Amino acid sequence: MDKALAELIRISKFVGKDADWTQGGSGNTSVKTAGGKFMFIKASGTALKDMTAKKGWCKINLQAIREIDDKKLNKLPSKKREIEIANRLLAACGDKKNRPSIETNLHAFLGKYVIHLHPIMVCAFLITKKGKAELEKLFADAKSAPLWVSYAKPGYSLAKKIGKLTIRYRKRYGRGPQILFLEKHGLFVSAASTKEALKLVEQVINRCESKINASPLRRRLNREKIIALCAAHDI
Ligand SMILES: [Zn+2]
Repeated sequence: MDKALAELIRISKFVGKDADWTQGGSGNTSVKTAGGKFMFIKASGTALKDMTAKKGWCKINLQAIREIDDKKLNKLPSKKREIEIANRLLAACGDKKNRPSIETNLHAFLGKYVIHLHPIMVCAFLITKKGKAELEKLFADAKSAPLWVSYAKPGYSLAKKIGKLTIRYRKRYGRGPQILFLEKHGLFVSAASTKEALKLVEQVINRCESKINASPLRRRLNREKIIALCAAHDI
């Protein structure tokens, strides 16, 4: 088995086992291959924890993904555009049997190991007005400054926004972001190794949880409301 695929399965099973992290198996993961030509990514329709060597992933040609954003797409009405993107994603997928996640383009902009989740404890911050400021304070000492991504509809709009923001981030910091907070949506973590990616996910979620546990927020924590507002749409 390709090393990148084996690592993808390992990280998917690890982050997929906690229901509070995934809200029913949603979220997605990816690992780019050694030469950087391909990316293994979770397919739609399989829960993270259920990924195996045989199912739940796609092998994507990264070059084809990067070419997805073009002027022709910009001119299409949004419904037609999403269909066209889904078709192009499928065309970029090696076996054509599994449908890549609609968030595939986002992964292409980030590092070798990418984990995207909708953890309740992080979403609790992402749905409030003060969430951005609170997260900035909470992660002020982070090795890599978190990138805040204001709300955009998942799919084309979100991918375009993250594409622009990561270019800006790279210009400012000389490297890509490692922690991305997506307003009313979830968390993206990007790292150079499996170990680092998993450590980052745990650190971010634990830090958010500790903050909530130590504040009056704890009593007001409404899981149903958080789940409804931080939609986990991309299983
Ligand atoms: Zn998502």
